Amino acid sequence: MKESLRLDALRESRKALDLMSKSELRREEQDAVVTDCLSNFERYVNPGILEYRKSCSTDYAAVEWRDEGNVFYDVHGKQFIDCLGGFGIFMLGHRHPTVVKAVMDQLQHQALHSQELLDPMRGYASELLAMLTPGDLQYSFFCNSGTEANEGALKLAKLNAKRKKANHCNGIISCLRGFHGKSLGSLSVTGKAAWREPFHPLASNVRFVPYGDADALDKELKVCDTVGLDIAAFIAEPVQGEAGAYVPPDDYFPKVREICDKWDVLFIADEVQTGMGRTGTLWGMEHSGVAPDIMTMGKALGGAVIPVGCFISTPKVFEPLVENPYIHTTTFGGNPMATSAVIGALNATLAEDIPRQAAEKGAWLMERFEGLRAKHPDLLHEVRGRGLLIGLEYCSEEAGYAVATGLFGEGVLTAGTLFSAKTFRVEPPATLTQHEMDEIVVRLDRVMGRVEAQLRAGDLVAH
Ligand code: PMP
Repeated sequence: MKESLRLDALRESRKALDLMSKSELRREEQDAVVTDCLSNFERYVNPGILEYRKSCSTDYAAVEWRDEGNVFYDVHGKQFIDCLGGFGIFMLGHRHPTVVKAVMDQLQHQALHSQELLDPMRGYASELLAMLTPGDLQYSFFCNSGTEANEGALKLAKLNAKRKKANHCNGIISCLRGFHGKSLGSLSVTGKAAWREPFHPLASNVRFVPYGDADALDKELKVCDTVGLDIAAFIAEPVQGEAGAYVPPDDYFPKVREICDKWDVLFIADEVQTGMGRTGTLWGMEHSGVAPDIMTMGKALGGAVIPVGCFISTPKVFEPLVENPYIHTTTFGGNPMATSAVIGALNATLAEDIPRQAAEKGAWLMERFEGLRAKHPDLLHEVRGRGLLIGLEYCSEEAGYAVATGLFGEGVLTAGTLFSAKTFRVEPPATLTQHEMDEIVVRLDRVMGRVEAQLRAGDLVAH
């Protein structure tokens, strides 16, 4: 390496280290952070991200710097109420003190694990999940994200099927508009063409049925049986999040459970987005009282302080991993920083009854949003969801963007769902205060009034 490059890199890293050590920046430092950030994204991260932001933000150069509670601040100190919740991460708000303390305490004596000795916090975190998850889900495998949790769950289902099914084709059935992640295995069971097509062929023997329709699942399994396609598992979300907050009929999951048992197929519940209280119960499956064979988790599991994913299964289903614990591994999975965050997050979630808060605040917000729908019927077509997983469906993508952009200008962050830019999500922390909820409704009403006027004037596409 050239000496001049070494010195440049030392200087640049020292600059960043000095900046990150400060929670407040002087005006010149603030401006320098914005200039550096834009140029680094343009040259080294991805200029496409900047282009996208120009099209959907009132200030594409907004750079975030600080967060606490239910709000975050850009580098110049502008406050935003977080109604996006990091796509479902910030159930406990930003930097919840119990989670931060857990991680800081752990960090004082060990950050990552040796990989050879036994790490005690992984044991406690697994014990807690076994206590708190439905049915006899018991053994946990920790990883680093939601998609990895689903990869592991799918592999575990296939290991099970290999043992008992005749022809080993090991298919998976998933749902239309289901979202399970973007790594190759999870993408194979994700139900949207635009993300899949560039990567074909994906994993083979994946079939899709409409979400919420138990008979369709039964019929598909009958077809598979008739033509000799063995199916290892059915995977579904308790509420479809990225599809736009679709809640299935009450009897859907009880029927799914029966059908899976009838055809000897494992049921994987993807609780990556619905878990940790998001829908008003600790896990989304609690609404139907159904226990899956494998459950996957992520997003809020690390208390919005450390990224962590996990799958948990019954002892019977976990057997292949007991026989060979090294058939599925990941270096960082279950590390002490992550598992201390899980323990802190579960403690805070239970102590503050986050599921109840999500249920009550979600119901309050949905009622107000219904009021706004009645007031602006041409603009807002539908309000859907459960707990604090809420989707607002606008009359067109343009109108949806216009509302989200207007809200951004008003200091409230929301975003579209991955499947539909028409449906905007409201996924705030469960720790929202009444004042913040009032503000969200007032500001949304104001922005909707402006967008409705644009629609009437023909300045926006209405369909
Ligand atoms: N499953 C569901 C239900 C999700 O909502 C998501 C993320 N939106 C994932 C899996 C993937 O999680 P990650 O982005 O952490 O890989």
